[in-house]
Amino acid sequence: MNEMTRPAIDHEKEAMVLDAVGSFLDREVRPVAHQLEHDDVWPAGIVEKMKAMGLFGCIIGEEYGGLGLSAATYARIIENISAVWMSLSGIINSHLIMSAAVQRAGTPEQKNRYLPRFASGEIRGGLALTEPDCGTDLQAVRTVAVKDGDDYVINGTKTWISNGIYGSAFAVLVKTDPQAQPRHRGMSLFICEKGPGFSHSRKLEKLGYKGIDSAELVFDNFRVSKDNLVGAVEGLGMQQVLSGLELGRINVAARGVGVARAALVESVAYAQVRRTFGKPIAEHQAIQLKLADMATRVEAARLLVEQAARAYDEGRRCDMEAGMAKLFASEAALENATDAMRIHGAYGYSKEFNIERYYRDAPLLCIGEGTNEMQRIIIAKQLVERNPV
Ligand SMILES: Cc1cc2nc3c(=O)[nH]c(=O)nc-3n(C[C@H](O)[C@H](O)[C@H](O)COP(=O)(O)OP(=O)(O)OC[C@H]3O[C@@H](n4cnc5c(N)ncnc54)[C@H](O)[C@@H]3O)c2cc1C
Repeated sequence: MNEMTRPAIDHEKEAMVLDAVGSFLDREVRPVAHQLEHDDVWPAGIVEKMKAMGLFGCIIGEEYGGLGLSAATYARIIENISAVWMSLSGIINSHLIMSAAVQRAGTPEQKNRYLPRFASGEIRGGLALTEPDCGTDLQAVRTVAVKDGDDYVINGTKTWISNGIYGSAFAVLVKTDPQAQPRHRGMSLFICEKGPGFSHSRKLEKLGYKGIDSAELVFDNFRVSKDNLVGAVEGLGMQQVLSGLELGRINVAARGVGVARAALVESVAYAQVRRTFGKPIAEHQAIQLKLADMATRVEAARLLVEQAARAYDEGRRCDMEAGMAKLFASEAALENATDAMRIHGAYGYSKEFNIERYYRDAPLLCIGEGTNEMQRIIIAKQLVERNPV
C-alpha cells in the first residue's frame, strides 16, 4: 500500500477501535499509570494487552494483519492514550514509523517478512537515527555500513532510542557512502534485529516520559543481510526517514493535544472545588482567563492535527501541515501544563497529583521528531515553495 492506494476509511470500524481503546485506558492504564511512571517501570502487562488489541499494527495494512486505520483515527488513539499516560504512545509510535517505512518503501519480500510480525507485536522496535554527535543534522551520522559479499557490516552508536532496551528490531539510518555529496545520497536505512554485534548499552535517565526505555544502541561489526536494506537500493535512507517522520510528527502533535487536554480537564475540575476568599477559584477572573486560553489551545491544536492527518490519509505532501500541528500542539501542552500548575498551586507541584507529570512530559514534545525550531524552518520553506512569486 502506498500513498496513492490507501483504502477508504471505514468509520464504523474506527469508532469501535476508539471505544475499545477508551475502555482499555480506563480499566487497565488509568489506575496504574501514576505508580508505574514514578517507579519508572516498563509496563510489560500493559504492552501485552496492547498487542492483543492490535495496537502495534494499527496503521499497518489489513493485508499484513494490521488494523489498517487512518492516520486521523491513529491520532485520536494517541491523543486519548496521552491524556492518560503519554509514555505508552512512545511505545507504539517509533515502532509504527519503522513499520511505515517498510510498508511505504520496502520490497515485497521485506513487507511479507516483517509487517505481519510488526503488526502482531511479535517483533517490536523503533527508529534509530540520533547519534551522540548529531540529532537535528541527521546527514552527519557516522554509523557506517560496509558491503561485504551478501552482507553489510555495521559499526557505530545510536543514542536516545525509544524502545531501545525492550525492542528487538530497529530501522537504522547509516552511511553506505560516507564521501557522497550531497550527503543524503550516501545514506541508507536497514532493518536490524538484535543479535551478535548489535545490542543496547545503557538506559538513559530522563526528566519525564518515564516507563518507556530510552537507550543507546551499539553496533560492533554487526552483520546484516543485504535483504534488510529497505527498498533494496542504497542512497534512499534519508528520504525514507523523512516521509516516516511526517507520521511521527502527527503522533507527537496528538500527544500534545492529549497532555494539553488532561491538564485542562483537571484544572476545570479543581478550579470548581478549590475555594479562596469565599468562592471557588473558577470564579476569579485570573483563573478564568487561564482556563479559556487552555481550552482554546486544545481545540486549535486538535484541528491542526486533524488537518495534517487528513492530508496524510489523502496521500498529499504534509510536511508543513504536520510541522504546524507538531509545533502548535507541543507548545500548547507545555503552556497548559504550566497553567495547570499555577491553577493547582502547591498541589500542582506535588508528586501525588498528575500535574507535575504533565509538566515533565510536555517539554519532550518540543524536542522529539524534530525540534520546534526545525518545524518553523520547514514551515517557512514550504510557505515559500508553495507560494512562488
Ligand atoms: C526521550 C527522547 C526520546 C527520543 N527518541 C528517539 C528515537 O526513538 N530515535 C531517534 O533517532 N532519536 C530519538 N530522540 C532524539 C531526538 O530526536 C533528538 O534529540 C532531536 O532530534 C534533537 O536532536 P539533538 O538533541 O541532537 O539536538 P541538536 O541537533 O544538537 O540541536 C540543539 C539545538 O539547536 C537547534 N538547532 C539545530 N540545528 C538548527 C538549525 N539549523 N537552525 C536552528 N536551530 C537549530 C535545535 O532546534 C536545538 O534547539 C529522542 C530524544 C529524547 C529526549
